[in-house]
Amino acid sequence: MNRLWAPWRSKFVSGKKKKQCIFCIKKNRDKETYIVKKSKFSFAMLNIYPYNNGHVMACPYRHIKDLKGLSDKELLDIMKLVQDMQRLLEKKLRPHGFNIGINTGAAAGAGYKDHVHIHIVPRWNGDTNFMPVTSGTKVLPQSLRKLYELLTC
Ligand SMILES: [Zn+2]
Repeated sequence: MNRLWAPWRSKFVSGKKKKQCIFCIKKNRDKETYIVKKSKFSFAMLNIYPYNNGHVMACPYRHIKDLKGLSDKELLDIMKLVQDMQRLLEKKLRPHGFNIGINTGAAAGAGYKDHVHIHIVPRWNGDTNFMPVTSGTKVLPQSLRKLYELLTC
């Protein structure tokens, strides 16, 4: 079994959460909030506490806690956005694979449990190494700002 360790996320997971939902976006703040792409019913943004380089999240605009609350149009829209993000990340970062998934509920590891979001995490052969295990440090080869510029140019 391979494991993708992300111990640097513990600060986020165990830290106090802001009351405001990070997925209920404000207009005209795309660059500040690292929004990579918008579609009719959903948008994709960089995760500022990434599991790996290029970690993107796709979310509906509506504040809905899980997939059961989405309409057919929203479901189709968000899944097409996930496809677009996978294609974009393949083109720009050339990963060897992806982890794509949803954590529903705090018990399942959802950091923001009240607004459903789909994680799209690029993976490379050998992208887990001794650094996270021995020192709690993850080596990310790009800054968030550089990654954002790469994905939105
Ligand atoms: Zn929300």
